[in-house]
Amino acid sequence: MKTQKAENWCQCHLADQVLSQLLEKVDAEVAEKCRQEGCQYCSGHLHRADYRRKPRGLPEQDRKREEEVFRDSFCCAQEGCRKRHTPPSVRFLGRKVYWSPVVVLVSAVRHGITPQRLRALRESLGVDRRTVERWREWWLQAFARSSFWQAARARFLPPIDPKALPASLCEAFGVDRRDRLLELLKFISPVTTGSSPWSRSL
Ligand SMILES: [Zn+2]
Repeated sequence: MKTQKAENWCQCHLADQVLSQLLEKVDAEVAEKCRQEGCQYCSGHLHRADYRRKPRGLPEQDRKREEEVFRDSFCCAQEGCRKRHTPPSVRFLGRKVYWSPVVVLVSAVRHGITPQRLRALRESLGVDRRTVERWREWWLQAFARSSFWQAARARFLPPIDPKALPASLCEAFGVDRRDRLLELLKFISPVTTGSSPWSRSL
């Protein structure tokens, strides 16, 4: 990835309020579809059982809303089933505290920029060094070995370099454009939930 350019679009995306609104809308649509489909186990009705989240690293203007952020989730209303359904998300990458664009983009530019610039970027988002290293491990281990990625990687030609994840994936998607970043976040969303029958179908 081109150093200076990558750093620029990384910072642009992370300050972009339109992006955060778009992601919220995508999550709401996916959640509504999930609710309408009903329970994947018994076809019962689903009731809302959202999780309150306090994602870090949101764009400046959104930070005051941190208290009002929820991860969509549902429980089956049927006695004896009650299974939880947490739809895939483009905002929350599993239980990670930072919202998805930060985990993707900071991990991606980590190698392309000087240590000083990486530190400045981390500090502007309040991310410590060990957190970035943990994300790196997650991409190379958990993500790269997930059944999702094992199946999905075949779609890419030329193949994605697994050792350069997620930078190689960002490059393949061309995430300097907002809509392409959104596509990437949608693409990886099956790995964002453990309780999802959807991830099994992918
Ligand atoms: Zn059910």
